Formats: sequence, structure tokens, C-alpha cells
Amino acid sequence: MKKKQKEPPVPIERHETVRQRIISILEGQTLSAKEISGSVSIPEKEVYEHLEHIRRTVNTRDANLVITPAECAKCGFVFRKRERLKKPGKCPLCRSEFIHEPLFLIKKTVMK
Ligand SMILES: [Zn+2]
Repeated sequence: MKKKQKEPPVPIERHETVRQRIISILEGQTLSAKEISGSVSIPEKEVYEHLEHIRRTVNTRDANLVITPAECAKCGFVFRKRERLKKPGKCPLCRSEFIHEPLFLIKKTVMK
């Protein structure tokens, strides 16, 4: 893959695929799926599909998808064991539906 000289990451390049754009915006900032959805202009549902794929593939690229688990805003219950990335609908402890969304970040494992 060709790599250009250093360029500011902000203006998103048109030729990149959506998945590459998600990867590049998550390198260096922690975002919820909703925020990613706004940045790359795709529905939140599709963001989760890309994130599932990124989670499986990014580890081979000297990076990790770091997930901050969803958390109940009422009682503080943390959804640690959740295998699916999507925000849970309801807290199993207090039944509150006010859940903080999970957050995503891509962390490089190789330092330069
Ligand atoms: Zn709760």
C-alpha cells in the first residue's frame, strides 16, 4: 500500500474506504459509534458492522481495538462480558434504559 508523506489527518481523503476512514479517525481519539457515524456519514448500524470487522482484523496490523464497555448511568453496572459491540438496551441490575454507550479507540502496539 502506498503511503504519502505526513499529512494532517483531518480532511478525510475521498479514495479511502469507509473502514479505513473509521480506522484512521479512531487512531488517536476515543469515540462512540454515534460519533463515528457522524464523522463518516454512515448509519450507526453500519458503524457497528465495520467495528466488528475492525476488531477481528486490526490486531494483525500492530494495533488493538480498545473498547470501553457500556455502563449503566443509573447504578454504574459495567457491561464487561458483552461480546457484541452494540449498546445494550437495558441494565440487568436496575432495569434502567439509560446506558452510556461503549467507546472505541485504536491503539498502536508498536511504538516508534
Ligand atoms: Zn443499572
